[in-house]
Amino acid sequence: MSNEIPEQATMIAEAVRFGTVSASQVLEEHLARIDTREAEIHAFNLVLADEARERAAEIDSIVAEGRDPGPLAGVPVALKDNLCTRGIPTTCSSKILGDWKPPYDATVVKRLSEAGAVAVGKTNLDEFAMGSSTENSAFGPTRNPHDTTRVPGGSSGGSAAAVAAGFAAISLGSDTGGSIRQPAALCGTVGVKPTYGAVSRLGLIAFGSSLDQIGPFTHTVDDAALTLEAISGHDPADSTSIERPPLDLRSKLMMGAAGLRVGRVTDLPAGASPDVQQRLDEAFDALAAAGAEIVDVEVPAFGYGLTAYYLIAPAEASSNLARFDGVRFGARTSAPDTNQMYMATRTDGFGAEVKRRIMLGTYALSAGYQEAYYGRAQKVRRLIANDFAAAYANVDVILTPASPTVAFEVGDKASDPLAMYLCDTYTIPSNLSGDPGMSVPFGTGDHGLPVGVQVLAPALQDHTMFRAAAELERYVQSQQEGALA
Ligand code: GLN
Repeated sequence: MSNEIPEQATMIAEAVRFGTVSASQVLEEHLARIDTREAEIHAFNLVLADEARERAAEIDSIVAEGRDPGPLAGVPVALKDNLCTRGIPTTCSSKILGDWKPPYDATVVKRLSEAGAVAVGKTNLDEFAMGSSTENSAFGPTRNPHDTTRVPGGSSGGSAAAVAAGFAAISLGSDTGGSIRQPAALCGTVGVKPTYGAVSRLGLIAFGSSLDQIGPFTHTVDDAALTLEAISGHDPADSTSIERPPLDLRSKLMMGAAGLRVGRVTDLPAGASPDVQQRLDEAFDALAAAGAEIVDVEVPAFGYGLTAYYLIAPAEASSNLARFDGVRFGARTSAPDTNQMYMATRTDGFGAEVKRRIMLGTYALSAGYQEAYYGRAQKVRRLIANDFAAAYANVDVILTPASPTVAFEVGDKASDPLAMYLCDTYTIPSNLSGDPGMSVPFGTGDHGLPVGVQVLAPALQDHTMFRAAAELERYVQSQQEGALA
């Protein structure tokens, strides 16, 4: 019966491994939900129902033979459509890739599959992951499952919505400047950007290579830990992958907050709405009540993150996206000579925001301006990293808002790029520093919509970040139980 299928990845995997439910039953339950609500939400660019059914049957036969299908046995997963899947279209929600099919799986896709997960589809995103609302997709916007007049956030909005709507127990996104944490906050899921280099980027179609990281969306902190343990760890095929074993996170979740030093940034850039600020204050109180010490810290360069990011990320994008020229991948618009063909293909193939970024980045890197713009942005990046390092001399983690507001209405910021960029004020600095960050659902704000609290930690302290996140989650659960009692 459908109500026996658990929601959480940890519980699904356990039930499938013990044979109390089959991977096929789990899958059918999720496919039925997709049938019911996908038309109004549009989380997916592609649903892989046939492939998923085959894979689920395979998992079930492994269980029947008494073999172990892995820690994510039978867990339905949704993959952001900028992750390469062998023989399956991978579009980046852009017209320019046409019906291109990658010849290989991204390392994360391979590792999820080896862990027993079942891929159910490729999720919608802002074109090439540029945006904060999933309205910049060439295939139309994704809607927030909590209120379909509102955005799910972005750029991994399809992945966030897929988990929030129960289409998949977990999903993967990419976070270059907040694209996992902000949609997680807006859709009320957990969303994690691990330490840069902790998860292989092989097969993630590059946006800003020095900033991009892959991470999970899940219902619970434990599910996120389980997923990251499966996908992290050294990959010799990614030169920026850290030479370390997979992250060890689940063993730290029950450590509690006693003795944890939690930073409150006193010079945080303004912009958080009162409802979000109120939740953040409550999060500090919750950790203090659990035995943490709240410590005021300064991160003076925090406020320059956005400016530095909008020089560095477009500069890297202008270089990374040069490969889409009508010759090697996907779509081509014919023209009388090669130069005109390049121009016509890129004019037709890229949307407005991608063109804006390519132009900004090309300008920032051009002779005469490179030192003034790109070079100075790199110096600011260093200052931000130094400021965080100084703060972390006194604290173990830092709490901030994940998104300045709850989910906004579709169309609200679509014609105002700067307003859209401001959505990432609190998330971008940790992409620049390379440190991990995650959004934890923490009650609701205006209109009864989800609020996320962001937990930040120094590089390679992902486990400490998870320890604090687990405590916040326990507090939220205790509040809910209190309300029900
Ligand atoms: N919203 C930010 C941007 O548009 C971040 C995107 C991301 O993290 N991929 O660049």
